[in-house]
Order: sequence, then C-alpha cells, then structure tokens
Amino acid sequence: MNGWAREKVVFKEPNPKLITGSNVNNMLKKIILLLLLMVSTIIAGLPQGASPNNREASKIPAAEIPPKTIVLTFDDAVKSQLTVVAPLLKQLGFQATFFITQSWMKDKSYFLTWEETAELYRMGFEIGNHSWTHSNFGKAENGAKLGEELQMVEKELARVGVPKPVSFAWCGNAFGPEAIAQLRRHGYKLARRGMQPEVPYGAIQVGPALDVTKHHPLLIPTTGDAYPAWTLEHFKRVISSARPGEVVVLQFHGVPDISHPWVNTPAEAFREYMNYLKQNGYRTIAMRDLLQYYNTSRLPDDPLVKTRFGR
Ligand SMILES: [Zn+2]
Repeated sequence: MNGWAREKVVFKEPNPKLITGSNVNNMLKKIILLLLLMVSTIIAGLPQGASPNNREASKIPAAEIPPKTIVLTFDDAVKSQLTVVAPLLKQLGFQATFFITQSWMKDKSYFLTWEETAELYRMGFEIGNHSWTHSNFGKAENGAKLGEELQMVEKELARVGVPKPVSFAWCGNAFGPEAIAQLRRHGYKLARRGMQPEVPYGAIQVGPALDVTKHHPLLIPTTGDAYPAWTLEHFKRVISSARPGEVVVLQFHGVPDISHPWVNTPAEAFREYMNYLKQNGYRTIAMRDLLQYYNTSRLPDDPLVKTRFGR
C-alpha cells in the first residue's frame, strides 16, 4: 500500500442533458469550493522549504516490498559457509550475502581462502566487505582508516575475479560517523549493523525489522543475530516480527562455528530454520537487493548516522 490510491481524485463527466442555469451555478460553486479545499490542504501540509513531492518521496519506498522477504547474511568468512550453508541455499533457491574479512584467514582449516570466497561468488551469492582487520570501526581513529581496509579486501577479491562489493557489514556491530564517511567515499551503498542499540548484544530477543523509510542504508539493523541458544520457536518470532513493508534481516556466522562458539549455529538447527522458511513461503534476498526498495534521491533522516556505537 503506497498511499497514492487514497489521494486519487475521481472526476465524473457531467451529464449534458441535465445542465440548466441553476445547475451550472451550483456546479461552479462546487468546483470553486473543491479548488479552495485542495489549495488549503496543500498549504497546511507543507513543511518549510519542502515541495509536496519531496514530502511524499521520503515516505514511499521506491518499489513495493513483498511480504515474507528476508535478507540472509553470513559474517567472518567461515569455511562451513562454503561446505554447509552454500549447498543448502542453492538447493532451496535462496539468495544471501557473505561478508568477507581477512582477519582469520591464516587459519585455513576453519576459515575461507580468497579462492574459496570466489567459489561462493561463482555460485551466485553476493560477496560483501567485512574489512581487513575486523577492528572496532566505531572508534574515530579506526573509522578514519576504514577506507584503506576496504581497498585491501577489494584488491584480493579482484585478484580472484570477484567484483568490488557494494555492501559492508559493521565489525562487532560497532559503527561511527568517521567510518560512514569512508563507506560513502568508497562507493558502498549498504551496510548492516547489529540489533544494537535497540537490543543488547547476546540477548535472545527480536531486533528491529528494516524500515526503508526510517533506517539509513548504511545502518541496516539486524532483526535476528543467530546465537547458539536459538530455538525454532525464537526463529519463528524473529521472522514473523516484520510489519507490512518491513524486511527481516538475519545475521549468521559459521554453521557450525567452531572457532567462535558464541555465534555458533549447529548445522541441524540451520537446516531446520531454512526448511521452515521454504515450507512457509518466505523468500530470501541478498543485501544488494535492498537497493531497489530505497528511494536514493531522498534517504531517511536516521538519527543514528550522527552517533557512534561500539563495545
Ligand atoms: Zn564479523
């Protein structure tokens, strides 16, 4: 529902047989009254310096978001994302974004190599940037250096044939204005944060669902951050939390995640979650697919853009 239908004015052709002197008079009166009403409505609704088009543009998504839309994201370049997650998603016809960092790549037994990252890309998944060092970019001094790290990741991706990403995921869910400026400068269009500040880290709670008229595309909230204590019941609460026009954003790590057990998702539980989505008519998209729903000529005035968050 985009609001246009409500404002549509239907003009009826007058029946020529019924036009008489007094009818013409009445009709003129009605038309003048209607015009006065329209003008006063427009003036009353105008904020200073804004046109009616701009006012509406901030409220109406660029494209209608189908219900049961889920953004699937996987962080930290964990090997099981290639061996367990990707084959299952292909089988179910699900899209997703994998956020790659060099941070743990030295450990080849549990983390992806750049060549393996390219395999995910060739399978049709989106590859996003998750920085070189996985630092807290909420800190001003780290945030100012994010640009160099983005480029280091881009260079390695280019070497294995993966194009420059448009999506970023905040490391440790920390964010700040200096890093946002770096993302803009380096052409990043979308960035996912955590459930914070709305929901504390580690809590088995439902985070905010994405509202493209409220959340800035460089601060897309996580609706569900997958922790080992998740159950199918909690998963159902997360995915059913979006109101019409909102999108659920899921953040996973390794499936399983042996090196980082606090964000582990057991493979059996993951299969259960994904099968539930499939059986109940949900569709999953990659982060980049959100761009079509943003009105890029007027992005939401999100107060978090001017704040910082980090442990
Ligand atoms: Zn991470």
